[in-house]
Amino acid sequence: MQRVVVLGGGVGGTLVANLIARKLRKPIAAGTAAVTVIDSTGRHAYQPGYMYIAMGHERPEHLVRPEKGLLDHNVNLVVDDAVRIDAEARAVELTSGERLRYDQLVIATGSRIVPEEIEHFGDEAHDFYTAEASARLRAALDTFAGGRIVIGIAGIPYKCPPAPLEVAFLVEAELRARGLRDRTEITFLSPINRAFTIESVSDMATPILAAKGIRLELLAGIARIDPDRKVAITDAFEEHPYDLLIVVPPHKGAQVLIDSGLAPKSGWLPTDRHTLQVKAIAKPASGVADRDVPRHSNVYALGDATDLPVSKAGSTAHFEAPIVAERVAAAVLGRAPRAKHGSYSGRVMCFFEVGDGKGTLLRFDYDHPPRPPKPGHLWHLGKVMFNRTYWHTVPRGRI
Ligand SMILES: Cc1cc2nc3c(=O)[nH]c(=O)nc-3n(C[C@H](O)[C@H](O)[C@H](O)COP(=O)(O)OP(=O)(O)OC[C@H]3O[C@@H](n4cnc5c(N)ncnc54)[C@H](O)[C@@H]3O)c2cc1C
Repeated sequence: MQRVVVLGGGVGGTLVANLIARKLRKPIAAGTAAVTVIDSTGRHAYQPGYMYIAMGHERPEHLVRPEKGLLDHNVNLVVDDAVRIDAEARAVELTSGERLRYDQLVIATGSRIVPEEIEHFGDEAHDFYTAEASARLRAALDTFAGGRIVIGIAGIPYKCPPAPLEVAFLVEAELRARGLRDRTEITFLSPINRAFTIESVSDMATPILAAKGIRLELLAGIARIDPDRKVAITDAFEEHPYDLLIVVPPHKGAQVLIDSGLAPKSGWLPTDRHTLQVKAIAKPASGVADRDVPRHSNVYALGDATDLPVSKAGSTAHFEAPIVAERVAAAVLGRAPRAKHGSYSGRVMCFFEVGDGKGTLLRFDYDHPPRPPKPGHLWHLGKVMFNRTYWHTVPRGRI
């Protein structure tokens, strides 16, 4: 019996488990292979919808579904927390004390937000990275009557890189529509030396910020919050007074990966950029070239969990899943991976809201930076359609 275990039932885990189950239909039917997803909650959240809760266009109950209903009937689901991965013994330990043995392991544990790393975050800052936080931000926007809004980022990497800029554009448009814009100063604090990590996207977004009168401050990652003086303090010790503070919280990889010695303190899994195999943690002083860092031949990662230089986005997991599924199925079936899905190219695709019912599209890979088209209504509608059809498409492997 060949056991495939997928850790995490989010976008990446669900899709990859479904694709693997399809490829292994015959051995599963014959009882010689099994695919199991382990997930903490057994509930699948569509996180991109959180931003729309904050904007007043979405309801939390629309964004969660039972994981079981999204999985192929050939995939088993175990609802529990993995507390340790023993890569030597090829087993995952759960809080229940159960040990699940595997022959092939796929890690799709996503990212976790750690707002507690910034003192006073919980009392002072708003964010839109959970349904609850987004509802609180909505309530704060509803009572906002003008003043200083500061939108910033507390550490890179974070999920959905365009999201804070999108929120800046959407909040600006809303306040204009509510007649509050001339009573409001909006400041966007970028932690790097431009508005967005990728230059071509920064070149697109910077004039839009200027046209909308949103002040852009560079090299201004949020490091501290002073609740008494109501100022956000950047890592360059600049102070930005606020009446409403919106901050992308710090992010880390799953604790289980750190505790298992598979990931460094950041929690991001060292991952081969093409095969998506998990690599040993390279010792910074060892001087070993990347190609010589040992790979775990039967452990793969996808989605937010990796340390790859691509966006932490559902679409990244979406494009990575066919590669992991093909490699895992090939290992189970004892054949070579087929060339078509043998290697990940760094492909990502994200819609990007710019406000006033307009959007654009970021499409890129390791070798081709995005060339966002002129913002228009079509791309905004594309995002609306994608959000509406998600439950029937991505996790089930239908697009
Ligand atoms: C506000 C917001 C807007 C976004 N907008 C977009 C967008 O427009 N486009 C886009 O492509 N992406 C967007 N994203 C990002 C996208 O949601 C994530 O990148 C995507 O969900 C990552 O998929 P994943 O499978 O890696 O992790 P997740 O979908 O987060 O799933 C991880 C799963 O692992 C489980 N898990 C974790 N640890 C354990 C453990 N120890 N034991 C068992 N189970 C565990 C969790 O319960 C969870 O179900 C957005 C995210 C947010 C928050």
